[in-house]
Amino acid sequence: MKSKSQGKNKEYSIQGIPVSPGIAIGRAFVLEGVHVKIAKKNIAAAEVDIEIEKFHEAIKNVKKQLSSDISSTKRRIGEANAQIFDTHLLILDDPMLTQETIEAIRQDLRSAAFAFYSILEKFQSQLALTDQEYFRERAVDLRDIRRRVVRCIQGDKTDFLKSLEGAAIVIAHDLAPSDTITLDRHKILGFATDVGGKTSHSAILARSFRVPASVGLRYVTKYVKSGDRLILDGSAGKVLINPSETTLKKYYKKREQIDEINIKLTKIKDLPARTLDGKDIELAANIEFTDEAENGIKYGARGIGLFRSDYLYLARNDLPTEEEQFIEYRKVVEKIYPYPVIIRTLDVGGDKEPQNIHIESEANPFLGYRAIRISLQEPDIFIPQLKAILRASVYGNVKLLFPMISSMTELYEAKAMLEKAKSELIKKNKSIQYNLEVGAMIEVPAAALITDKISEEVDFLSIGTNDLIQYMLAVDRGNERVAYLYKDLHPAVLRMIKEIILAAHQKGTWVGMCGEMAGNPLATLILIGLSIDELSVSPMLLPEIKKIIRATDFKEAAKLAEKALTFSTAVEVETFMLRYMRRKFKDLIF
Ligand code: PEP
Ligand code: MG
Repeated sequence: MKSKSQGKNKEYSIQGIPVSPGIAIGRAFVLEGVHVKIAKKNIAAAEVDIEIEKFHEAIKNVKKQLSSDISSTKRRIGEANAQIFDTHLLILDDPMLTQETIEAIRQDLRSAAFAFYSILEKFQSQLALTDQEYFRERAVDLRDIRRRVVRCIQGDKTDFLKSLEGAAIVIAHDLAPSDTITLDRHKILGFATDVGGKTSHSAILARSFRVPASVGLRYVTKYVKSGDRLILDGSAGKVLINPSETTLKKYYKKREQIDEINIKLTKIKDLPARTLDGKDIELAANIEFTDEAENGIKYGARGIGLFRSDYLYLARNDLPTEEEQFIEYRKVVEKIYPYPVIIRTLDVGGDKEPQNIHIESEANPFLGYRAIRISLQEPDIFIPQLKAILRASVYGNVKLLFPMISSMTELYEAKAMLEKAKSELIKKNKSIQYNLEVGAMIEVPAAALITDKISEEVDFLSIGTNDLIQYMLAVDRGNERVAYLYKDLHPAVLRMIKEIILAAHQKGTWVGMCGEMAGNPLATLILIGLSIDELSVSPMLLPEIKKIIRATDFKEAAKLAEKALTFSTAVEVETFMLRYMRRKFKDLIF
């Protein structure tokens, strides 16, 4: 952390990773998460009863959540698997736990969240030390319970944001998708988090909210208090705390310049994404929420290249039914018609923790039970989703996309499930699109290397660089400690993309890209030069990418890509592209 001068209320800056461009100026709102250690917090004697009430209320709500989990788990994966939640209910009913928490609030004047958190932590460490497996497992149960109850107690913190008069810059250790969904979007000026990388889900969500964001700031929750005046520079990844008048003036001016550029850019939104020598690139939008669909078109997309259906599941405690999903998909499909909507089937796990699907705690969640692996093992979740998509497909132009395919076996199984969903619907006389186009995401290196085989089985491919890069370079996409190694212009990544496109085209299969690399203006010309067919990016990034495409000659881009592929390091490629782009696009900021 840098400080201009020492002392209270002096200007400080913290540098993080830029993930969503723009400047936000306003007050901070610190959202306390459950992933951080809950800070020791004392309360006034007058607040004791309120805190005890909060605690009782949270226990009541968690019990309700658990009961609904019990019935849905029983329905989906059987009685035995639901027993875990019965154990959780028993723990919540433990009179000793309740008594000790209330004592800590009343006698030691601890906040409800801290009292419950520390008591469970004490029990948990005692259990974890025993050599009996049964008790060690209970320690895991306690951690789960602690997470749920503390989250519930802190629920009113989120409400605080709802009750804020104006908007605020949200500061958090991390933003779980389920936390973020509950925030009132109109009150968020920007996001800044301790952890995360360019492609972590908090970053993707910030872009979908179209607000500036910086992640991986490491200490931002430590140094910023709610109410502090802040500048968040999402383009530089910087947070300035207590900015001086001079700094404020400088940033107001910078914000005006960015606004002017954006106004100019939106003028080309309705023009085709066509190179100077006439090659059309499909330019599409990535969306996370149904109500974002229009934004995609408003900002110049000609279709939805990735509808992350995951968020329909993440916002709730129970599973969305086939009917509920059908209604949501149909809304998007009808709004976007005649343009296509690529609906990706459920992709949770990794850093997207659903509350309605039980995923045991794993040492390596990104290598574990996630995406298509869950769908294939949970037909009661997968089949209703496939049916909902098939039913929505008659209302417009729909394509289906399977995430995280790592072998042909998975692809065959996923397609077999699709056939099963089709025949069940046909039996019930439901209208469906029989020849629904099916695609596979190429986001695992193994899949990339068998692109030729996958291409024979699908209608299209979509390169998911967010995961592909993390698996290729062995860099956790959400870990700020190793974010400096996460490079989309790494020569190995470029070579891999070239090979994927070549192999797919040899089989006559078109290839899109929906990972965040598709929205990196330094990569656009290389991707065009490598003959990518479609780029799908966050709506806020669309105008800039369209401008680059429209100013490009395909043959020139092909030469540029060839040159970029001769370098040995990502830094060399970045420097080369930066120089080229700054010369060519004087009115864009790189
Ligand atoms: C990707 O991995 O590039 C992708 C688009 O999927 P997600 O970011 O949702 O994992
Ligand atoms: Mg992915």
